[in-house]
This record gives sequence, C-alpha cells and structure tokens, in this order.
Amino acid sequence: MKYIDEYRDPQRARLLIAEIRSRASQRWVLMEVCGGQTHSLLRHGIAEELRNDIELIHGPGCPVCVTPAAAIDLAQSIAMQPKTTLVSFGDMVRVPGTQSSLLEIRTRGGSTKTVYSPLDAVELARRNRNEHYVFFAVGFETTAPATALAVLQADQLGLTNFSILVAHVRVQPAMEAILRSPNNRVQAFLAAGHVCTVAGFESYSDLSKKMDTPIVVTGFEPLDLLEGILACVIQLENGQYSVENRYARCAVEAGNIEAQQVIDRVYEVADRPWRGLGEIANGGYILKHKWQRFDAAHRFAHLQNESTLPIIDLENECQAAEVLSGRLRPTECSAFGKECTPDLPLGAPMVSSEGACAAYFRFGPKETVLSQGNQH
Ligand code: SF4
Repeated sequence: MKYIDEYRDPQRARLLIAEIRSRASQRWVLMEVCGGQTHSLLRHGIAEELRNDIELIHGPGCPVCVTPAAAIDLAQSIAMQPKTTLVSFGDMVRVPGTQSSLLEIRTRGGSTKTVYSPLDAVELARRNRNEHYVFFAVGFETTAPATALAVLQADQLGLTNFSILVAHVRVQPAMEAILRSPNNRVQAFLAAGHVCTVAGFESYSDLSKKMDTPIVVTGFEPLDLLEGILACVIQLENGQYSVENRYARCAVEAGNIEAQQVIDRVYEVADRPWRGLGEIANGGYILKHKWQRFDAAHRFAHLQNESTLPIIDLENECQAAEVLSGRLRPTECSAFGKECTPDLPLGAPMVSSEGACAAYFRFGPKETVLSQGNQH
C-alpha cells in the first residue's frame, strides 16, 4: 500500500490546499471530466474542503451515464430476439433507457449476460455457435481498444455469431462542446488521466489556446487532483491558457500509439449523441465499413425505434442532462436520495459506479483527507 499512500499523504494535501487558497483571488470554476475523479474528489472530501475557494463542477465523464437512452432501448430489443444474447459490463444492466433497463428485460424473457472483458463475449460466441452474442461496446477511448481487439479476434476465429453495438464516445469533442455552450461556466478543466494515457493530449493544446482555457491532465488520487487544481489556479491567476501534464507517471503527450492503431483499424470517428449533451460533432466512434458484418446496429437495424413495451418516460423524472452538463449539483435534484437512490435509480448518474449522483449519495460531505490526517 506504500505506493497509494504516497498519493494520499494528509500533510502534503494540507500544504496543497493552503497554497490553492493563498493563490486563488476568486472562486474559479473548474470541471473535472472523469467520473472516477468526481468520486475521488467527494470520497476524500476535497470538494467539501475547497467549497468556499473553488467551485468544482462535475463533467459528463461517466461513459455509462452518457450512453443515449435510444442505444439502451436498442440493446433491450436485441436481448429479446430469439437465440440472441446481449453481453455488457455490469453497470450497463441497471441503466434506464426510455422504458426500462436491461435488468428488467431479463425478467421479461430477454437474454443478457455481464462480463469483465469484451474478449469474454468473443469466447462465449466461440463456444456456442448456435447463439448470436452482441457485445454492448460502451466507454471512452480507454475501452475502445479492447472492443476493437474483440472484433479483430472474432474475425480471426471466423465467427459469424458475434457482433458489437457501438456506443463509444470521445472525450475532447465533449469538452469543446461544453466550452462552446452559451451557458458555459467552466474556466479550466481537469482532464482525465486514463483517457490521455490512451489518446494522448497533443490535441488539447489547440483547444486550450482557442478557448482560453487551462487544461491540466490529472490522475485520480487526492494529491493528483489537488496538484491539478493548483496548476489550474496558477494558470488562471496568471492569465495563461495551456496544457499541463500532472499525471506524468502514466500519460505522455502522444498517448499509447499501439492502442490508437488498434482503434484506427476498426473504428472511424463520427458524430454521436451524448445523453445530456445532445449530438456532438466527432463525439464518438462507429465501425469502419470493412467490419460491417460485426455491426449490431446494422444487423438489427429493423429493431431501431421498435418497441413492444409500455412507455414510462424516465427522462422526464430525471435531471441527468442538467447534472451531466454541470448545470445542476446532484443534491439539487428534487428526487435525490428520495425517489432516486442507488437501489432504485431513476437515472444513469445514480446507477453507474462513476456517476455523479451515486458519488454524492455514497460519499456526501463527510470526512476529508485532512481529517484522516488528524487521526494519526
Ligand atoms: S438524483 Fe436521480 S433523478 Fe436526480 S438527476 Fe441524479 S439520477 Fe436523475
């Protein structure tokens, strides 16, 4: 545990918080992009500790949360098809579409399975050629290489009973869309370290300069985040707008070239709807035409917009769009902690382990990294 402890040192955290306070002449508005960072900021009490000094608003960086309801609806319709199983990561099964979740579909006879890796779905298809397996490919640039590899492996094995339903999204176009939105309040970004580890951050320079916005690549531990916040504050106070890397132990400017090559072999960049943000130019991936035989959206195109289930408009009850775009704090939602809890979620941000509403429900303003230090 020594390695983790180094990034959770309360004394160092205290010094960083003091320096942030002494440098900040105003309550700057920062957005952390990734849901993992949101959880860490709340779990370690950083958001609470700095609430009078810095406004931290939570970005749309939870891939499960931003998957459009229409994609979830299509996944559910696929799961209801004979001799067809919809395979996904665990979080996805509880996320509501416009009508219900994949979990509820199971109770109506739908066939779903959860796995830890897309390659597990390929293995299921290899072992049972009488069933068609569709992997629900959700996630940022971080998971796209693994789903691309699944397609390549299925091709190598000559599988005809495997396809993927692609809902991958790209982070940088969403950051730009947030900055360009008319009611944007974000003044600096904490960029997601894991995404930059794969995709690199060369292209953030242009974004930072043209939008006059500091972008600091940060990790997920308390000291990573505090150093990232401090770097943002220093830039904002000095009127500088550039990209800084505070996650050098993992991320390099060019990213992971091999992972990017795998993505490029299988996917091409395309416009994509994000739940809460709407259609984002270049905001996601689709399969290249060459791999169309593995494209579940193509194979099951006749199911799009088709539904036999009663309509319960969950979107109307849930203010996920406001939360995902940073306009509403989860605790300001009238359903938070009442009608909507992790056991009975009304929306994706309460379901996912990276969702902002789930983070507030689990961690709220409780103990802080500083109070932990006081106990020693
Ligand atoms: S608390 Fe629940 S209903 Fe409110 S925005 Fe979050 S997920 Fe939606």
